Amino acid sequence: MAIPQTFIQELLNRVDVVDVVGRYVQLKKGGANLMGLCPFHGEKSPSFSVSPTKQFYHCFGCGANGNAIGFLMEHAGMTFIEAVKDLAQQTGLQVPEDDASPQDRERAAQQRQKQVTLNDVLEKSAHAYMKQLKASLRAVDYLKGRGLSGEIAKTFGLGYAPEGWRSLASVFPDYADALLVESGMVIEHADEKGQDGEAKRYDRFRDRIMFPIRNVKGEYIGFGGRVLDKGEPKYLNSPETPVFSKGRELYGLFEARTAIRVAGYALVTEGYMDVVALAQLGFANAVATLGTACTADHVQKLFRFTDSVVFSFDGDGAGRRAARKALDAALPLATDTRSVKFLFLPAEHDPDSYIRANGEEAFAQCVKEAVPLSRFLVDAASADCDLTSAEGRARMASQARPLWSALPDGALKRQLITELANGIGIGSSDLLQLWQQTGGGARAQRPGNREPSAPQAPGYDGGNHTQDHGDHHGGGYAQSSFSPSGGGTYGGGASGGYGKSSYGNKGFGKWRKGPPPPPRMLGQRRAGGSRADRAVGLLLANAEAWDTLSADDHAMLAHLPAPHGPVFAWLEAQLHEHGPQPWAALREALRGGEHEAFACGQVEQATMGADSALELAELADVMDRLRGDALEALAGILAARVQQGDATAYEDYKRVNERIKALKSAPPV
Ligand SMILES: [Zn+2]
Repeated sequence: MAIPQTFIQELLNRVDVVDVVGRYVQLKKGGANLMGLCPFHGEKSPSFSVSPTKQFYHCFGCGANGNAIGFLMEHAGMTFIEAVKDLAQQTGLQVPEDDASPQDRERAAQQRQKQVTLNDVLEKSAHAYMKQLKASLRAVDYLKGRGLSGEIAKTFGLGYAPEGWRSLASVFPDYADALLVESGMVIEHADEKGQDGEAKRYDRFRDRIMFPIRNVKGEYIGFGGRVLDKGEPKYLNSPETPVFSKGRELYGLFEARTAIRVAGYALVTEGYMDVVALAQLGFANAVATLGTACTADHVQKLFRFTDSVVFSFDGDGAGRRAARKALDAALPLATDTRSVKFLFLPAEHDPDSYIRANGEEAFAQCVKEAVPLSRFLVDAASADCDLTSAEGRARMASQARPLWSALPDGALKRQLITELANGIGIGSSDLLQLWQQTGGGARAQRPGNREPSAPQAPGYDGGNHTQDHGDHHGGGYAQSSFSPSGGGTYGGGASGGYGKSSYGNKGFGKWRKGPPPPPRMLGQRRAGGSRADRAVGLLLANAEAWDTLSADDHAMLAHLPAPHGPVFAWLEAQLHEHGPQPWAALREALRGGEHEAFACGQVEQATMGADSALELAELADVMDRLRGDALEALAGILAARVQQGDATAYEDYKRVNERIKALKSAPPV
């Protein structure tokens, strides 16, 4: 079940947009409204106003506007559900989740309380470290030596953890409190007892410059600590805790949000010192991973704030390896509307030293000339391959395959197949065929081989389908949505080419025009369920693909017999109300609904062990087949009308049959 509109309304009545915005933006009274510096476009004098009476924010500079929920989505990068939950938390309202038992709710509330408590411990530590920094001449000198101003240190909340084993005891009177260990601030040696017979405990961070790590909400979730001079390890991070996960969090994202919007891209660096130094030098849009390789979660998080990400790496071997991992993480998310680039600095430089040596403009130029994902992909595919030998080119063919397959369908992917094939020295259809044969084995099937009447996986409802439409809908849907003479309702009228760009004209869905889908999807994965089942599973798991389908497709899907049609109709309404939602959110919304079990079963089937790029490719294929089915169904209805003596139906019947013929004879690639 979706979150009811009444609840959203009640929530918006209870929260004050001034408080919500005020958590992120400093607001000052200005007449009836409050004014501040716009967090969406970056400015020197305030043109961003928040109205307590209307409960809206509005920027006169860039036009950004919305309510409390919208602000959290836009500014803090939350999803709709996250924003609603966040606000509910603050007001003490319970988001209606029908089937959550009282125990589950209790547990969730406790978990949240625990997180808040841990955040508090970390924040208190951060403030203590900031104070210590001011008291330590050595630490201040170190930061000055790195060229950092007091202002930048303050922006990032930099601090200093003094020498000594138990400095935090002066901050937390109960040093034995389990929360200190759980937050990662104190280390406990259970098997080593001190003089008092208690387990030995001491501060994790000692004599280090402290970089507090905040999540996008600004909550303190962990620390990075750097030694001042010599000592090992040079960098030390908080351990994984209930509030801190290195694979998901990015250092500096909270501080960089506005700058990312203003600059139009996010710059991902290798360390927190880079982030702070770059901010000092005019690149406040930098973030860093926390001593781990870049993950898909990281990239996804960044894409909530910008469509353009530039990874910056040191030019050494380690930097190359890190870049390769970032490539793997970014590939499935590299849609045509996004830009991903890789910046390799000369081996002796990090961003900080590069800018100091060559100036800001030179660095900005480097960013501009960074290697686009497409080129880096081809480089990675041909790495260690001697392209002058047949063996080397064969190796490239095998290295290229997983990289190319990971890309979502789109213009980029289609261009790259040609480029890769050129490098390997064979035609692109040969390359695809090769990949199919080596990967899918006997199960692989040529992508063009898809006559709608061919035997399909179990569950295919073949001719019954026609009957279904006739029975359940009396042909009405066929006429309203698929009228073959209706000027482009289905397939764009005159062009009429079923095998051409007649549907999915938003760049999705026509494999016949471009390279065929990777072999896996054509082989075993179609087993187990009809194509309509498959479409339910694939679209629920990849709801963002809904918008890439045409209005005719939407109508066709929503009019399928139950349970499929009603599920698609529900999905359409849900997306209309909430925007594209991840499966987890849709899963919640389905709870308790009539089709919950069916829908969840299909998603499980559709997504077993597959990645979303493959799923989207398969969806394109399934949609093609469903369109074919729909046309066959329509032809059946028209044929019946012709037999009953309806002469007007004959022209329509001919046209539909032409489309079906075009579909069947379309070339594979
Ligand atoms: Zn603005």
